[in-house]
Amino acid sequence: MAQINEDHDQGTITSIFQILKTCATELPDTSLSPYVGMPFHSLIVCLLSTRTREEKTSLCATRLFLLADNPYAMSGLSRDEIREAIIDCAFYNSKTEQIVKVCKQIINNEGKVPSNKDKLLSFEGVGPKIAILTLANGYGYTEDIGIDTHVIRMSRRLGILDDAIKSMPKIQYELQANIPKEYWYDCNNIMVRFGREVCTPRKPKCEICPIYGYCPSKGTE
Ligand code: SF4
Repeated sequence: MAQINEDHDQGTITSIFQILKTCATELPDTSLSPYVGMPFHSLIVCLLSTRTREEKTSLCATRLFLLADNPYAMSGLSRDEIREAIIDCAFYNSKTEQIVKVCKQIINNEGKVPSNKDKLLSFEGVGPKIAILTLANGYGYTEDIGIDTHVIRMSRRLGILDDAIKSMPKIQYELQANIPKEYWYDCNNIMVRFGREVCTPRKPKCEICPIYGYCPSKGTE
């Protein structure tokens, strides 16, 4: 295992994830939580969530799905209707165009969001993170960890991702080398919940953190 905190063997990492998984259920839901088993909704939420806070993503998703909750109905909306529904998201203009394109591509795929990662990645506007999270949340399928800013920050603090590793492919490789596969599916969900509520970017709440005893960064500012 490469570049891991010397105190962390696989047993320790498993213990950390067992604790995090148990405690995560008591933390607020993510914007994806209402859409488990719903691939279309999961994909749209992932598109909306880029560079947008969770509560804004949830608000915009709820407004948009009230107007249209399937690709056929959504492709019947005007750009102005979509834009107005998602106006609280960052980059709402480009996300409106992404949503229009994605709906067309789904309709051309017999109305289904692909359940295959390569096929989903072939959709314009769908990158690796969106594909991984859509497949995990929508289809319960995981062959990779969904990586975002919370996952990276917490992993670095926990000593399971070396600070020197910067590129996304290398981060993906490193985390998947160090985190047991049984936790890949839940890793993003767990770390987003903890990253928002406990291991926050500034002034993490180490004093209430359930993995305090395992963390080499405890007490960090
Ligand atoms: S102890 Fe502090 S820095 Fe470490 S994971 Fe918990 S909140 Fe984050």
